[in-house]
Amino acid sequence: MANLGNPKNTVEVIQKHGFMFQKKFGQNFLIDTHVLDKIIRAAGITKDDFILEIGPGIGTMTQYLAEAAGKVCAVEIDRNLIPILGETLADYDNVTIINEDILKVDVAGLAMAENGGRPVKVVANLPYYITTPIIMGLFESGVPVESITVMVQKEVAERMKSGPGSKDYGALSLAVQYYAEAYLVANVPPNCFMPRPKVGSAVIRLTRHREPPVKVTDERLLFQVIRASFNQRRKTLQNGLGNSPELPFTKETVAKALEDMGLSPIVRGEALSLEQFAELANHLCGLAMIP
Ligand code: SAM
Repeated sequence: MANLGNPKNTVEVIQKHGFMFQKKFGQNFLIDTHVLDKIIRAAGITKDDFILEIGPGIGTMTQYLAEAAGKVCAVEIDRNLIPILGETLADYDNVTIINEDILKVDVAGLAMAENGGRPVKVVANLPYYITTPIIMGLFESGVPVESITVMVQKEVAERMKSGPGSKDYGALSLAVQYYAEAYLVANVPPNCFMPRPKVGSAVIRLTRHREPPVKVTDERLLFQVIRASFNQRRKTLQNGLGNSPELPFTKETVAKALEDMGLSPIVRGEALSLEQFAELANHLCGLAMIP
């Protein structure tokens, strides 16, 4: 089968099958071999690797992954693409296609069944409308993920990499920092896709930490505190956390924790680093236990 990483071959496959792009599935297919090579290189794939690809489309990147990896499992929601994938990937016996919504797949179970629970590398040109739930799901649901190398919307890549004080800083930045080391591989302009997206894109690699960089008594509480802080971004932490229906703390308890940490009573969440959020969550945890 011809290499699909160029516009001519992609158009040929699409026309042959009368495929109609579906906007609701975020379908923008890669048509640039340089970008594809860069993604494969950045993911550091070897023949020992098991790769999970999310949204193979017509199988463009899947072909590159199948060449480089030991085994590839690709999850595609659009059933119209399944017969096309059968054809474009016919030459590879190390690829499994699953016709399913990735958000409904038990990825930890899949990694266990297909790879004996060993570490998985995730590589994808993601459907942008569900970037955050996909990434958070991979980190939070016990999947043995080693790294995630993905194409995302440029603004989202910036949010993942930003720190306190920046307008892009938020819950996603902190979650990414907690779980992984983020590295921006490349910015990718709209003309590398068919059809062209309205937004800029970027490839980012998230390499999972062996141990989180901060120690917390209660991980769930840390993320509840982070979410509540950014849900009400303009509010002070005292008000935002004290009024949050997700959290059991009064405004006074939050004020006491901030005071113990030597922080201003009017500080906002956007000013706190991951270390400070961890310290705050640990303080709140301790204060909640005092009768
Ligand atoms: N990998 C292909 C490429 O690079 O040319 C296609 C990438 S395209 C940006 C995103 C792909 O994800 C589409 O094929 C789309 O149908 C698929 N997709 C969208 N939502 C999905 C979901 N919930 N689960 C699995 N696949 C999904």
